[in-house]
Amino acid sequence: MVKKKSYVFQSEVKQLLNLMIHSLYSNKEIFLRELISNSSDAIDRLKFYYLTSKDINKVDNYHIRISIENNILKISDNGIGMTKNEVIENLGTIAKSGTKEFLKNISIENKSVTNSHIIGQFGVGFYSSFMVSDKVVVHTRSVKELDSEKSVLWTSNGKGEYFISRKYKDNIGTDIYLYIKKDNSEFLNEDRLKSIVKKYSNHINIPIESKFFDNKKKKFIWIKINESEALWLKDKSTISDEEYKNFYYSITNNLGNPLIWTHNKVEGKNEYIIILYIPDTSPWNIWNRDDYKNGIKLYVNRVFIMDGIKKIVPFYLRFIQGIVDTSFLSLNISREILQDSNLIDKLRVSLTNRIFKMLEQLTLDKNKYIIFWKNFGNILKEGLAEDEKNLYKISLLLRFNSTYFKDSNNYTSLEDYLNRMQVGQNKIFYIITDNYLSSYNSPHLEFYRSKNIEVLLMFDKIDEWMMTYLLDFKGIKFQSVSKKYNDDNIITLNNKNDILNLSKEKYTNLINRIKDILKDKVKDVKITDKLDNFPVVLSTDSNEMSTQMLKLLSITGKNFPKINYLFEININHLLIKYISNIEDKVIFSKWVNFLYFQALLIESNNLENSVEFVNLTNNLLLGMMFKESI
Ligand code: ADP
Repeated sequence: MVKKKSYVFQSEVKQLLNLMIHSLYSNKEIFLRELISNSSDAIDRLKFYYLTSKDINKVDNYHIRISIENNILKISDNGIGMTKNEVIENLGTIAKSGTKEFLKNISIENKSVTNSHIIGQFGVGFYSSFMVSDKVVVHTRSVKELDSEKSVLWTSNGKGEYFISRKYKDNIGTDIYLYIKKDNSEFLNEDRLKSIVKKYSNHINIPIESKFFDNKKKKFIWIKINESEALWLKDKSTISDEEYKNFYYSITNNLGNPLIWTHNKVEGKNEYIIILYIPDTSPWNIWNRDDYKNGIKLYVNRVFIMDGIKKIVPFYLRFIQGIVDTSFLSLNISREILQDSNLIDKLRVSLTNRIFKMLEQLTLDKNKYIIFWKNFGNILKEGLAEDEKNLYKISLLLRFNSTYFKDSNNYTSLEDYLNRMQVGQNKIFYIITDNYLSSYNSPHLEFYRSKNIEVLLMFDKIDEWMMTYLLDFKGIKFQSVSKKYNDDNIITLNNKNDILNLSKEKYTNLINRIKDILKDKVKDVKITDKLDNFPVVLSTDSNEMSTQMLKLLSITGKNFPKINYLFEININHLLIKYISNIEDKVIFSKWVNFLYFQALLIESNNLENSVEFVNLTNNLLLGMMFKESI
């Protein structure tokens, strides 16, 4: 008797299978695409294996076959197959940490799982077969398994456990048997299956065949149902948008939709063909700098070699998806050498140029470009530090919120900003805070608003760091409105200066009293003419670390010295006028501290000692209510 051993699924797999069986997923037909995609990968991997091994029993007639018998749907391939350990590893566990994380956060109630792109993205492809099957059997023989008797039979109904035994299999590859659920009998209909294949897998580089009874020959023959010609080989003008999109879905595991694509053939000594896409959705792990692989698949003369080659695109363009097929790499180059080859360097330069062209084109469609920007803008910003050569090109692609607009849904380019600059304005002004509202409402903007000078609003974590690389645009320097510069001649519009000079004398006493109280907290106290509705504000010197930079650095866990702020007061404000008349030292000190805390709260969006601030505020309010000091 054949020995059959039972195994328990890893708990995450159980959870996933539970989801599949209860099938929240509306678009069930994609199970076929997922299985075909696995088969096609397996064939690609076998071709690659043969390139680098001395195996003489090479197959050269690769195919994926679909057939139906006794209400069982069979999908078979003559790909690389799996050993017993690989079966346990691949079909019994989920190795990808992202998938585990994802599963933690969803439940059967959570309807978001119905989004079709989720399944592919989290690499749960194979398990999708349980959406339509009561039972799944996998019969596989690895290219490494010489003994055909030792091929592996894996069986499961998707409920907690699976069984493994050995069973003779003549050829290398994998057969998958789906015991289709009663409710899903549509997937036992040949025509329905063919239309699914055409829809999703038409351009898989491998023939997908279905059985057909030839009346003349009186026997079954296999006929090809997909085009099986690599899409990139076809003439551009013959390819429909629909075909480009479906090809995108097939290479990205259904990652949203493409915003734009480019298809080019470069002839000459170093011939290559590319199809590149910009997606409208961000892969879940794109911020995982160590594990994330870019979405470029490399083929050499139609043979898939490797995906996610690190240097094939700069890291700040890692959102690009697509394929490159070259004829100028040697087929049996080792994967390690490939990573560092000079040819990959050449490809990178050329792909980078193509991608910039594609992005420039995308800017012409404002709505689409904003979708791109929201998904990948912060990744593109990394390029300012990474790719000095392309700094200008990248800066043309940057988009910012701005005081020019009334809400955060509008963005400006730097070019548009330049076009709106005031006469005499010689800087591009910006502010960096934690979020849109605190930048839009910042006291630092009051002066600029009053002069109709536009200020760019930045609040992404990367921005402070980005601005250390982005020093000017078309020769015009950037300047932060929350910093003090030596040559602070923002614009020759500042006509309050005379009043300032007059007031200085009168307020020297007030300033000295304030300095006395804040001497350990601020670097200096000064009168400002840049405020209107706010009584005070904190600024930093242009050569000092800014609040946002300190926050950014603090994430590293190290202790950095506190910022030496400049405390600026608006002598026209009623609160300042009011406190200037307070004689009582204790009460005066409370007011000054209260104003200092306010300014600090606005500047850093958080107070180390918020309780002290609240107590102080309440204390002053009560004092005013009862007209006495408490
Ligand atoms: P993914 O394809 O995203 O890795 P799957 O759950 O679909 O996730 O498959 C898990 C793994 O099982 C694959 O990575 C592959 O190693 C293996 N596998 C699945 N189907 C086949 C097949 N037909 N031939 C060989 N290996 C396969």
